[in-house]
Amino acid sequence: MADSAKRLRLPILMYHEVSRESERRKAVRKTNPAYSVSAGEFGDQIRWLRDHGVETVSLSRVLEEDDPACGGKVAITFDDGWQNNYTEAFPLLREHAMEATLFLLTGFVGRQGYVDWAQAAEMEAGGVSVQSHTVSHRPLVGLGPAEIVSELEGSKKSIEDHLGKRVDLLSVPHGLLDRRVIDIAGRAGYRGICTTLPIVFHSLGNPAVLGRINVPDRCSLSVFAKIVGGDPSLLFRLRLEKEAKNALKKLLGYENYRKMYKLRYKIGE
Ligand SMILES: [Zn+2]
Repeated sequence: MADSAKRLRLPILMYHEVSRESERRKAVRKTNPAYSVSAGEFGDQIRWLRDHGVETVSLSRVLEEDDPACGGKVAITFDDGWQNNYTEAFPLLREHAMEATLFLLTGFVGRQGYVDWAQAAEMEAGGVSVQSHTVSHRPLVGLGPAEIVSELEGSKKSIEDHLGKRVDLLSVPHGLLDRRVIDIAGRAGYRGICTTLPIVFHSLGNPAVLGRINVPDRCSLSVFAKIVGGDPSLLFRLRLEKEAKNALKKLLGYENYRKMYKLRYKIGE
């Protein structure tokens, strides 16, 4: 699949935390509540996929198999390596034999609230492909070339050493990506980079750049069905929202945007 003219059609779902209700009601959070679905909702979504005969595929497998239509499957991804991905989401995925991809922040593994290496290894063995979300979660576009190399190579090597597997996918922190990051990722051995652009048709360059659709909090099953189906009008609306957000980031500067965002969503450090 090295042919850059080839396009892949695959709805790639993006999740962060999968929490119990009591966790979600905390006054001060670490993530935007839009990036935390309840374990109950996640279970409903997994059962919806099963009931509708929609199979899941890990992104590593997608890049290995030469099938631009991906057999009508969807991909499930998790960013950051939250411990509730192991305690809440993993049992459901395993129960229904569903594949997924977990993007780990290697500098956070074993910290409170995050998976440890034993849990990551168990998920890898249970059909969840563990891949990189960098070491520190700093936006790569704001870093110098040596720091980008260290974030990409360091996280890759750390997962490969701990889990004895090949890491070839990267999810960029905050969805921010530029040409330098793509080039450095390619040289570091990554074959695919995940962003947060809500699209279902992806260009397969080397590395491939893959968009993803966030499954928001309190997502009804009818909206979930549209996400899974790659509904064009929904994706168009999501892209407009994303462009408005990006314009605001540019206008305010990234640091000011983050400050406003943290105040808005009561996110603590
Ligand atoms: Zn992240």
